[in-house]
Amino acid sequence: MTQPKLNRPDGIIIALDGPAGSGKSSTARAVAERLGYRHLDSGAFYRALTWAALRANIPADEWTALTPEQLDALDVHGAPEGRSYTLTVSGWDVSDAIRTPEVNAHVSRMAAVPAVREWLMDALREAGARGGLVADGRDIGTVVFPDAELKAYLVAAPEERARRRLREQGCGDPSAENVRAEARRLLGRDEIDAGRPVAPLAEAADAVRIDTTALSFEAQVEAVVRLARERAGG
Ligand code: C5P
Repeated sequence: MTQPKLNRPDGIIIALDGPAGSGKSSTARAVAERLGYRHLDSGAFYRALTWAALRANIPADEWTALTPEQLDALDVHGAPEGRSYTLTVSGWDVSDAIRTPEVNAHVSRMAAVPAVREWLMDALREAGARGGLVADGRDIGTVVFPDAELKAYLVAAPEERARRRLREQGCGDPSAENVRAEARRLLGRDEIDAGRPVAPLAEAADAVRIDTTALSFEAQVEAVVRLARERAGG
């Protein structure tokens, strides 16, 4: 089906969604690099809010009652820098701090709060105002950019996702037991993300599904770049 031409001076919008550890962010970053686009890692925004709330000692069972004013006070910002966005809390770059097991364990709880999603929406949409964007997350193709010219939904077998995640964290060749434990954590997060009433993890009806279990990283990047070039018309 031909998409209507939208007024996006910098290029199309590419939405990459999928479960935890499916390789969305690293793929999105590489695709953006290849196309000269910008990369928006939407999960980093939820992570930064989680990190800031933990640091502010706001108990997790009170997060559902967070008001927009309290969210403002957490002082979380995502600023465009080069081809991506740098997340800061009170002016501090938290790019590494938001990747800890503690944030992993709490972030889905923060992301399930409707007021949090609403609070972030303008900032996320603003990133796509001129197009030329590869955005990854859970609801990019369904809620944030439902008019994205290309939507891809990345999936991979849980143990393969766990293995990749552990290698990324510098665990070398992880043991079978570590892989199983990490897969359980990823699936736990997927269950909360897919089960929440607001903007759940879901495959858009018009998304292209890419199973990366048996694909090399280069092959999965190439698959998305090829589709993007087709959709961008050249
Ligand atoms: O992509 P990443 O694993 O960093 O995302 C962290 C968490 O942020 C997810 O488990 C999910 O709870 C939340 N998230 C979301 N919607 C998005 C991106 C991330 O709810 N678009």
